[in-house]
Amino acid sequence: MRPKINTKLPGPKALRYLRKDKKFISPSYTRYYPAVIEKGEGVWVWDVDGNKFLDFNAGIAVCATGHCHPKVVEAVKKQAEKLFHYSGTDFYYPYQTILAEKLVEITPGGMNKKVFFCNSGAEAIEGSIKLVRYYTKRPYLISFLGSFHGRTFGALSLTGSKFIQKKGFAPLLPGVFHIPYPYCYRCLFNLEYPSCNFYCIKYIEEEIFRKVLPPEEVAAIFVEPIQGEGGYIVPPDGYFQELKKLCEKYEILFVADEVQSGMGRTGKMFALEHWGVFADIYCLAKGIASGLPLGAFIARSSIMNWKPGSHASTFGGNPISCAAAMATIELLENGLIENAEKIGKFIIKNLEKWQEEYDFIGDVRGKGLMIGIEIVEDKISKKPVPEKVQAVLYKAFEKGLLILSCGISTIRIAPPLIITNEEASVGLEILEEALKEVFLK
Ligand code: PLP
Repeated sequence: MRPKINTKLPGPKALRYLRKDKKFISPSYTRYYPAVIEKGEGVWVWDVDGNKFLDFNAGIAVCATGHCHPKVVEAVKKQAEKLFHYSGTDFYYPYQTILAEKLVEITPGGMNKKVFFCNSGAEAIEGSIKLVRYYTKRPYLISFLGSFHGRTFGALSLTGSKFIQKKGFAPLLPGVFHIPYPYCYRCLFNLEYPSCNFYCIKYIEEEIFRKVLPPEEVAAIFVEPIQGEGGYIVPPDGYFQELKKLCEKYEILFVADEVQSGMGRTGKMFALEHWGVFADIYCLAKGIASGLPLGAFIARSSIMNWKPGSHASTFGGNPISCAAAMATIELLENGLIENAEKIGKFIIKNLEKWQEEYDFIGDVRGKGLMIGIEIVEDKISKKPVPEKVQAVLYKAFEKGLLILSCGISTIRIAPPLIITNEEASVGLEILEEALKEVFLK
């Protein structure tokens, strides 16, 4: 199967929606190309003009089981016929309790944990910020340069990805400090792994904790196990063990934002499992319910021990979303996580060949189907080329591949986890063509 583009893009129907969008929709969104999506099946999506695209985005790392997986559709239909909503704030839902038990089972750290359900990644972060302050009674929070945790005020305060996301909205939450992420391709300390000896961890203890922040007043460190919007950056082996040691030394909570990296995307249920480290709190959303809105955070019962009324959400843990999540997890556990690992390896092997061949491929990194290709002017200067990356995305779109960027100059590959070798090869072929047209012509 291949993409099929029948019209000039955007097509005539798409143009009509784009005009309405311009008139009636908030202009705050970032759209990289005019794809007006109407239908999806597996790894394929169709726009309103019937053009068929291969999806390397999965609705921004959301549609883990592909579009409209029959088992998820069946679960949604069955629940929709019974009940849409009654509010988990004041009442009990059967599916919510069943899903909570499952989430406690699949997150590392034993069964003595509790779950809070919400509707999005930002809400999971927002709730976790409240929980860590409530539990530790400490004011300060640490997050990372390049991180993305969402756009509500608390989550936005932790975010350190692009200044435009914050411009005009200050003052934000006080007491948030950003530290360097282990982005070894562009180490902020100009050091090299492993001879750096994790200076970026020492820096927290020897500089930040001595000069800026009393560690006994730090409630938590919020970290993406693989940085998502910041550029699909994978920390080096050993980093998380060191970070965890530091947290334990000062009794600082370790909060894993697995909103993008979780739910099987990296070839493990949670990305942090690649390094054998447990978090105190896991924040989930995106892939959890195959596209239905659902977020959650999971903490040890001793931590999630707040009083009735301290946190709640009308829509959180909606029964249809919970039914979709149960079906999603079943599919993940029955082959999709392994598939993510297998196809991810296949894609990276191909990309590493490109890296040898093309001077504009600076770095190839990733785990499972969370893969970044950092594009540069040339390997020596490592100069980012965001305009060229944008041109590549547009060309790929015109050729029938939906793919996005992240960070300053990185192309991200995050297809549904059901993708096959053949489908991945088609996407890579189109992407290579688009890259060559932009860089070699
Ligand atoms: N955390 C991470 C790691 C994310 O990638 C995102 C969204 O991209 C969020 C949080 C925010 O999620 P949402 O857009 O559902 O609020």
